[in-house]
Amino acid sequence: MLENIYGLTLAEIEQKITALKLQKFRAKQIADWMYKKGASSFAEMTNIGKAMQETLSEHFVIQRPTLIEKWDSSDGETTKFLLGFGDGVAVESVLMRHNYGSSICISTQAGCAMGCAFCASTVHGVERNLTSGEMLAEVLFIDDYLRQNEDKKVDTMVLMGSGEPMMNYENVVKFMRLVHEPYTLGISYRSITLSTAGIVEGIDRLAAEEIPVSLAISLHAPNDDIRSELMPINKKYGIAAVVAAGKRYGDTTKRRVTYEYLLIAGVNDSDDNAKELARLIRGQLASVNLIPLNPVTERDFKRPSSARIEKFLQILTERHIAATVRREMGTDIAAACGQLRNQHIEK
Ligand code: SAH
Repeated sequence: MLENIYGLTLAEIEQKITALKLQKFRAKQIADWMYKKGASSFAEMTNIGKAMQETLSEHFVIQRPTLIEKWDSSDGETTKFLLGFGDGVAVESVLMRHNYGSSICISTQAGCAMGCAFCASTVHGVERNLTSGEMLAEVLFIDDYLRQNEDKKVDTMVLMGSGEPMMNYENVVKFMRLVHEPYTLGISYRSITLSTAGIVEGIDRLAAEEIPVSLAISLHAPNDDIRSELMPINKKYGIAAVVAAGKRYGDTTKRRVTYEYLLIAGVNDSDDNAKELARLIRGQLASVNLIPLNPVTERDFKRPSSARIEKFLQILTERHIAATVRREMGTDIAAACGQLRNQHIEK
């Protein structure tokens, strides 16, 4: 079977083609054609001679993901893509159009093994890890789409789609370095946010990488009792250990950590919950992002009233915790991660 060259790093392409006795500098040309000029065949690479095009075609294919389905929200702000890879695995990637630019949400695994009680991505477990090249392909797919249709580009990115990035650590870090390279999109590390369910070793490892990406931690509860009900991973990494890791990440990288806090009616949204949360993270270089639950068909939880959400926010603010409520986008197209993939699998 021919090897897929799409998604490889420049160093990897160099290594592969020099093994075929082709000159090393050709790798840069191939990368430019694939990653900057949208080529999907070697024949399009006009500055590469016929003989070399043929050698390349005998060994490699340029396999981009295929678009299985696309949904646009009625307000036009959000577009969701279900992308398929060579082995039939499908993942969701989301484009959100803000007044400050285009941001995308990408998946790091097909499915997820974390088992969070409110989440659609984990309903069918984890299918497999995505490679760094596949994650790059998600970004490039949407970047191409934006350039062709809207004369825009991808500006910022969150690793908040399906999957737990820390359970696919090497590929995820390799991907963040790859998307930062000038021969791909040259996205600055500060424009990337990685969201984790709170894998403590992963957080410490990431802090030591010296790539200044932003970290978001899915906290979703102010104490172990509630958190363990919602997130089984809390039995392994308890809330105190997670918050301590968040503090270390902030201290090492000087980047403000965001704690994501999903608000679920009657579960974690009381005044006392807000007060306990404020005590938990007091004194940290951190902010709280309150996320009104996106109801998921497979799950039984409800979102609190807007008055309850406002009250929760107010309690945090009064205690000098920087907090915001996440603006909802794309609920009419089932934008909660994993929902569209589930519909696809179940079909
Ligand atoms: N595994 C990582 C990243 C993927 S989940 C993590 O846990 O952070 C990205 C975010 O979406 C997490 O904060 C997750 O808790 C949240 N999320 C999952 N299901 C949701 C739902 N139904 N409504 C709103 N947010 C949800």
